[in-house]
Amino acid sequence: MKPWKKLALLLLALILLSQIPFAYRRYKLGRLHAVIQQTNSQRVAMLDDFVEYKGAMHVHSFLGGHSTGNFNEIIAAAKSNQLDFIVMTEHPSKNFSTAEMTLKGVHAGVLFINGNEVSTAQSDRLLLIPGNGSAADADRHQTQQVITQAKVANAMVFVAYPEEFKSWDSTDYDGVEVYNVYSNARKINPIITFFDGLWSYRSYPDLLFATFYQRPAENLRRWDSAIVTRKQRLVGVAGNDAHANVGLTLKDTSGNTLLGLNLDPYERSFRLVRVHALVPSGSTLDAETLRAALAAGHCFIGFDLFSDSSGFRFTGANAKETRLQGDEITLESEIRLKVTAPISSRIVLLRDGNAFQSESGVTGKEFIVTERGSYRVELYLPQLPGSLSEQPWILSNPIYVK
Ligand SMILES: [Zn+2]
Repeated sequence: MKPWKKLALLLLALILLSQIPFAYRRYKLGRLHAVIQQTNSQRVAMLDDFVEYKGAMHVHSFLGGHSTGNFNEIIAAAKSNQLDFIVMTEHPSKNFSTAEMTLKGVHAGVLFINGNEVSTAQSDRLLLIPGNGSAADADRHQTQQVITQAKVANAMVFVAYPEEFKSWDSTDYDGVEVYNVYSNARKINPIITFFDGLWSYRSYPDLLFATFYQRPAENLRRWDSAIVTRKQRLVGVAGNDAHANVGLTLKDTSGNTLLGLNLDPYERSFRLVRVHALVPSGSTLDAETLRAALAAGHCFIGFDLFSDSSGFRFTGANAKETRLQGDEITLESEIRLKVTAPISSRIVLLRDGNAFQSESGVTGKEFIVTERGSYRVELYLPQLPGSLSEQPWILSNPIYVK
């Protein structure tokens, strides 16, 4: 055999060998797909005094500059995901009010709230819900000033990108975005994602998320410790931070797309993680009731890609009353914390951020606690393959035992 042929064969063998891990990762995604289907078929229904609405928070359109997404795409993606609400959070513009111009009210049966994402003079980032024209000036004001102004205007304020937030001592903010898809996606290795994409994108585009999804351990710690330090309620939410602009694209010199691997088109982003809000039955979903539910922490985070988390409930009861996640309850002799899950799962109860008790393979659990503290639960699906069984499926809001 001629030397160049040997070399060519050797190269070919090396290329094939290098692809084995990615072929195996595609096989693993296929297994995950099968497990998710089976898990979803085992759901149990939930009946109580609340109606659950699911939606996506922290969504950008073309208005803010970073995104190319248009309103029709966002509405269509919400519809195809059967979402009830979307919280828009447009970057402000110096020349016009993006909050006024973005989606608000009901479109095609989906409720939209028109928020802003702003950066303050201290480079802290906040979600203002709803936003307003003054968002454009936020970068000239101190964080506390921006929060106070928003509260005066009757808006909710959430800390975005808590990993970069410096003003935890501020007062009056409502909550923290403890998980953000975009922040998580920024940790991906582009080379691994490229080959995962080649092997798996066509068959399992959604499940590529599973290859990098990680429990937001540091942000959960920041949230838990802010609650302990400030001795105040603080609502946890997740942000899709959907821009429809994350991915890898190869274009030829005339701009034709040779390979387009968009990791966050709205439709896919809305499928990964959702905020589920609980509105008292009898009242309808509108901007008012949704904002009340979010501000009260009557909501939870569900990584619904792995199974629809609808039906999850977390309540606390003393001898006199039963309260919901997000609420405070007075400790008498004991508090009964009740968790109900739509699917058999591992339930971990945390007190002030520390794992406290857990139970596996159950759709319900009652924990009796006798100490004050903020109690929240994380639910896991041990039936998911590999390290996904170690990543949370549901993150509740806390019940504050006072
Ligand atoms: Zn954003």
